[in-house]
Amino acid sequence: MTDCVFCKIISKEIPAEVLYENDKVISVLDINPIHLGHALILPKQHCNDFLDLPDQTYHSLLQAARIVTSALLQSLKIEGYNLFSNNGIIAGQSVFHFHLHITPRYREDNIRFVLNLKKYPDGDLKRYGTMIRKYIKSPAF
Ligand code: 5GP
Ligand code: ZN
Repeated sequence: MTDCVFCKIISKEIPAEVLYENDKVISVLDINPIHLGHALILPKQHCNDFLDLPDQTYHSLLQAARIVTSALLQSLKIEGYNLFSNNGIIAGQSVFHFHLHITPRYREDNIRFVLNLKKYPDGDLKRYGTMIRKYIKSPAF
């Protein structure tokens, strides 16, 4: 993809601080970190979001996430971390090349997802379960 900043990082057209790399995935430090050490895991093959991720890449992506997380825990002595991915504009995705974020967390760092938790109205828990299960397919979409 010519206009994708992550593809340019992968092809080394633009510099990045690489933490880990193999033939399928690369991990770099996020340029605007939530906390210093905030890492990104990118598949090397361009794909827009989670559902576009090629089948043969899942394992490498999660394996890289575990390798990098383990390195963050040991190097920065962090006690916790968030592992997440924004998918779609309304979910906060700003770079449309799928990626996982891994960010260190610290005691009293005051970072909160602002949530307005709901309760299921009577019968809706089951209704939602039934509605969603109808579309559960395995393994392709
Ligand atoms: P998103 O908002 O799509 O979930 O995450 C995109 C992330 O990519 C952001 O956290 C942003 O700071 C990071 N980012 C954007 N451009 C660059 C770049 O050129 N280099 C690096 N290393 N990170 C970038
Ligand atoms: Zn890309």
